[in-house]
Amino acid sequence: MTQTQSSENQCTLGSSCDAFAEQPTLTKSSGTCAEQSTLTKTGSTCAEQPFYKDGLNFACQQCSHCCRDFPGMVLLDKTDLDRLARWAELTPGQFILAYCRWIDTDSGEKLLSLREKSNYDCIFWQNGGCTAYSARPVQCRTYPFWTHVIKDQSSWDKESKECPGINKGPLHSAEEISGQLAAYKKRVPISKTEL
Ligand code: SF4
Repeated sequence: MTQTQSSENQCTLGSSCDAFAEQPTLTKSSGTCAEQSTLTKTGSTCAEQPFYKDGLNFACQQCSHCCRDFPGMVLLDKTDLDRLARWAELTPGQFILAYCRWIDTDSGEKLLSLREKSNYDCIFWQNGGCTAYSARPVQCRTYPFWTHVIKDQSSWDKESKECPGINKGPLHSAEEISGQLAAYKKRVPISKTEL
């Protein structure tokens, strides 16, 4: 989902979702790589091959399911904020007042997110699409190649029940997916204490 959902068993903290991603345990026994079929031996160490090593198919079907209808959050980092503010022809401060809200976290930190309408639609969703598409945040740009979505085959399959674009369309290479994942993980959502 493009908006990070607040539903059961799903991380609700965007980039902090990384903390929720279980890292597979790599084991090496008697010179062979054990435990998972995705492990390969390179030199004297075991290297993990992601389950998406042969690529994944994805093409957005523009159903808008990930942009509306349910509570969520789209966290913004500084690059997102600057890009969106330029697009809206506002200063970053004006953009925050007009289109953002602060999300309370368990640690007491407040993180910047796009606002939602009263029906939970993204503030920029209108007439079947994203009015800010050209300036959309990295969280939206990198979906569905998020840490917890591409953690393993089971996570990917589970997400495919929510997003009809998964397993459709062109094949995205492992290299491309890794690039998207890196961009997703690199985000540092803006904290209210920074402003
Ligand atoms: S196809 Fe998937 S990514 Fe595209 S709008 Fe629907 S839920 Fe979102």
